[in-house]
Amino acid sequence: MAHAVKELYPGTRLAIGPAIADGFYYDVDCNRSLTEDDLQRIEKKMEEIIRADRPFVRRELPRAEALKLFQQLGETYKVELINELDGETVTVYEEGDFVDLCRGPHLKSTGEVRAFKLLSVAGAYWRGDERNKMLQRIYGVSFPTEEALRKHLEFLEEVKKRDHRRLGKELDLFSLSDDIGAGLVLWHPRGAAVRRVIESFWLDEHYKAGYEILYTPHMAKLGLWETTGHLDFYRENMYSPMEVEGTDYEIKPMNCPFHVSVFKSSLRSYRNLPLRYAELGTVYRYERSGVLHGLLRVRGFTQDDAHIFCTEEQIDNEVLKVLEFTIFILRTFGFTDYDIYLSTRPDKYVGTDEGWEKATNALRKALHHRGLRHEIDPGEGVFYGPKIDIKVRDSLGRQWQCSTIQVDFNLPERLDISYRGPDSRDYRPIMIHRALMGSLERFFGVLIEHYSGAFPLWLSPVQASILPIAERHIEYGRIVLNSLKESGIRADLDDANEKIGYKIRKATMLKTPYMCIIGDRESANNTVNLRKRTGENAGEMSIEKLISFLKEEIKNRR
Ligand code: ZN
Repeated sequence: MAHAVKELYPGTRLAIGPAIADGFYYDVDCNRSLTEDDLQRIEKKMEEIIRADRPFVRRELPRAEALKLFQQLGETYKVELINELDGETVTVYEEGDFVDLCRGPHLKSTGEVRAFKLLSVAGAYWRGDERNKMLQRIYGVSFPTEEALRKHLEFLEEVKKRDHRRLGKELDLFSLSDDIGAGLVLWHPRGAAVRRVIESFWLDEHYKAGYEILYTPHMAKLGLWETTGHLDFYRENMYSPMEVEGTDYEIKPMNCPFHVSVFKSSLRSYRNLPLRYAELGTVYRYERSGVLHGLLRVRGFTQDDAHIFCTEEQIDNEVLKVLEFTIFILRTFGFTDYDIYLSTRPDKYVGTDEGWEKATNALRKALHHRGLRHEIDPGEGVFYGPKIDIKVRDSLGRQWQCSTIQVDFNLPERLDISYRGPDSRDYRPIMIHRALMGSLERFFGVLIEHYSGAFPLWLSPVQASILPIAERHIEYGRIVLNSLKESGIRADLDDANEKIGYKIRKATMLKTPYMCIIGDRESANNTVNLRKRTGENAGEMSIEKLISFLKEEIKNRR
């Protein structure tokens, strides 16, 4: 591709072009702003190069010689890269009159490329730094067969259809506004309805699981973040402080220190432990505008956060409980496939080796106990303790990081918390941070894509739409609507002066699970004609039967 670009657009300089998880890209510095048409031209040129079946030749050059070569070619980005490489020699690959800096390996010849497609072009700063020049990044994919390529393109089409930003607009769930600010989410009534269901399910289950619920402020004195160490290791993600009556305050990037303060507010005995504090806590973190993405990467979000304070003997049991709780919650939302990672001690860490071993073992034991397959991420733990990350697989098999369970040796020490043991001496409790859904914003984004906007009944913004066939059925429609609402079912009535076919299409577009069609017959019989969003007809039924039918499905959370 790089060769084709250089032939078509002389003077183009090449930056970096790696293989990535889902294809490849090349960043190019080209005078022309590349369009869809250009991508097609590049593809044609690539086909010519492939047909020529020229061998790729690998050469090892002394660094000085390589520098000279790329200087002569005017490839300034390559020169910069070579200057940073270690070693006496660098490798280049050649094909025809094209030469590129590359570690390799390569195919034997251009003719071995079977099926490929260029997908898109987007702006990308040299080295991802917005102070540098904006280059053009061309994305593509390549497969060993046309069939595999076709399958992948179909998958991409499906991904596009499910894009939560697109569905968020179509289904009127949420928006992001330039007036408000980048990465700050507005939940519309229909999205907020889903969130309310998620939150109340979350609350009920947390009370059942022995958690206590907290509410904490959105800001705190800067000094607090100094004590916790956030100013040392988390500053990049924090906003500038604001001054209030001569004291600096900081908007919170995390909820942890607040929960610790509640713990600290009275003398704790070993009899009080474990203490489990949970909060739907809204935090604000700085992310560069370039990495913000719909609901998936935002600047303000609500974590389903909790902190468990326990004794060392209680870690095993607490971790196991959290793990079981996580899996129960994820399953309820329809995620049955996970990838689990256990991250162990990094090079830089706080706490004792013995403590790390104990905590890591507790995490490992809990995974084994549940028979959960997991991978080890060596050295990828946080500096304050080991952790388990759970990534869910959605209906397209894509991985999403949601849940995290982290043991912390740092904060109890830093904030100096203790509990009184049976021997009347003071001990440091162990702290476990955990978030099951991660953030509500992100989780909602994943849910939208997982279900392609067609939420199961219990989560649907509107569970049933009442669709009167004619004007004269509206009054009976109101009676049905009130009955449903009184039973706690989220329902609406389409009283617009439109044909029934159009009303059905509208409700189907909104992915409303059930449509209650009412005409002369239904009004006379006190019934509705029930239709599913799939188009299937569930037949005529009484209002009472309808309510118990819907309630049963809601209760089962299917
Ligand atoms: Zn925390």
